[in-house]
Amino acid sequence: MSEQNFDLVVLGGGSGGYAAAIRASELGLSVALIEKDKVGGTCLHRGCIPTKALLHSAEVADVSRESSKYGVNTDFHGIDIAAVTTYRRDIVEHKYKGLQGLVKARGITTITGAGRLTSPSTVQVGDDTIVGKNVILATGSYSRSLPGLEIGGRVITSEHALELDYIPNRVAILGGGVIGVEFASVWKSFGAEVQIIEALPHLVPNEEESISKSFERAFKKRGIAFSLGIRFQSVTQDDNGVHVTLEDGKTFDADILLVAVGRGPVTNDLGYEEVGVTMDRGFVLTNERLATNVPGVYAIGDIVPGLQLAHRSFQQGIFVAEEIAGLKPIVVEDANIPKVTYSDPEVASVGLTTAKATEKYGAEKISSYDYNLAGNGKSSILGTAGSIKVVRVVDGPVVGVHMIGARVGELIGEAQLAVNWEAYPEDIAPLIHAHPTQNEALGEAMLALAGKPLHA
Ligand code: FAD
Repeated sequence: MSEQNFDLVVLGGGSGGYAAAIRASELGLSVALIEKDKVGGTCLHRGCIPTKALLHSAEVADVSRESSKYGVNTDFHGIDIAAVTTYRRDIVEHKYKGLQGLVKARGITTITGAGRLTSPSTVQVGDDTIVGKNVILATGSYSRSLPGLEIGGRVITSEHALELDYIPNRVAILGGGVIGVEFASVWKSFGAEVQIIEALPHLVPNEEESISKSFERAFKKRGIAFSLGIRFQSVTQDDNGVHVTLEDGKTFDADILLVAVGRGPVTNDLGYEEVGVTMDRGFVLTNERLATNVPGVYAIGDIVPGLQLAHRSFQQGIFVAEEIAGLKPIVVEDANIPKVTYSDPEVASVGLTTAKATEKYGAEKISSYDYNLAGNGKSSILGTAGSIKVVRVVDGPVVGVHMIGARVGELIGEAQLAVNWEAYPEDIAPLIHAHPTQNEALGEAMLALAGKPLHA
């Protein structure tokens, strides 16, 4: 039994927690980082990084199948899932080692074990009492299911999907959001038959409607099947597979069913409520400066309502560390955080959709330009289709950018600056975009909106 005292105690060592710990220690605070599993959390071990490694294997498979199109003769001999797993694990392990080194080098005290908030300044880990002048809650999220749908056997979550040591022949996926389409894309490239079931009217339903529709066309072309605007009614499983019945009576048989219907906050039974932290349906409520109602207790990342993204968690971690150190950092609103859906094709966006911008400013105050990547030299070389749509206020700034195409996630940075800095298309149009890059397409859209289209 021991008591240790710190300036800051961080509960949860995922993207948000470790970012907060690193920034706070850089600012001279003594920090304890409590993690029950592995520092790096969901993103590094079960989310962003391993899934992107899988997607890269999938992309290489597609390229090698089609390599003769580029004048390169190769023989595609299929997928070696054990080698895919080794490649993916090596990347995660390498990043994990790097992160452990970073945390150690910053002088952060890591405490391994499950923590529980026992007072506004105390976290109990087994027999050890860890006391902080401030505490950050950063316990992350878990894969949710739906009422009447039990996870187990052939009904799996993204965590199990990552660890599958075989490629299923037929996959059903419940949920056509970011995680569902990411796995759909991978499994299709690996040779599986894929069926997505989405309750909302579109795949990637939170994106600009025209982008969601393009995405659906692209998936259809790849042979990925989907049912939209419909819910599942029942799911049964036996030795032969899993049997999904939809509310219209349609049925699908598959080897596995991936449930990708969103993520819930990990906050249950951690002492938050007992200490008096205000919660809403399991999420921790904070003010815009990420302080809870309990003085000295902050919350960041997936447990705070809003976008559940690693880069939001990083930023919130840095923000709270600076707040505690008295630096008065600037609040970044969720509305201006870039979002990327990783699949083939990719979707990337920042800011308002046309519908939301119209709601906010009125239809007559909004104009947009949708630049087709068919006009872009690099896209033709890569053989990819897609578009970049820029939404602006008439005689005003860019308020939203929406992209679809190969690797458009790499292009969202400039769009993000435009939206966050409230740049006008007229400010960006004269800037020189390197040729030939897909990034030029954003410049072309800005030129068109500034009234001087070039290749449009
Ligand atoms: P987490 O990363 O979940 O970390 C929370 C940590 O707290 C965990 O390590 C957990 O073990 C620990 N913990 C929980 N309870 C306790 C306790 N009582 N005591 C001690 N420790 C505890 N986001 C992106 O931005 N880009 C992507 O490409 C992307 N891909 C994803 C793919 C998948 C399949 C999934 C599932 C998620 C993906 N995400 C992606 C989301 C991203 O992983 C999360 O938004 C991010 O990890 C949230 O960070 P966090 O710090 O809030 O929580």
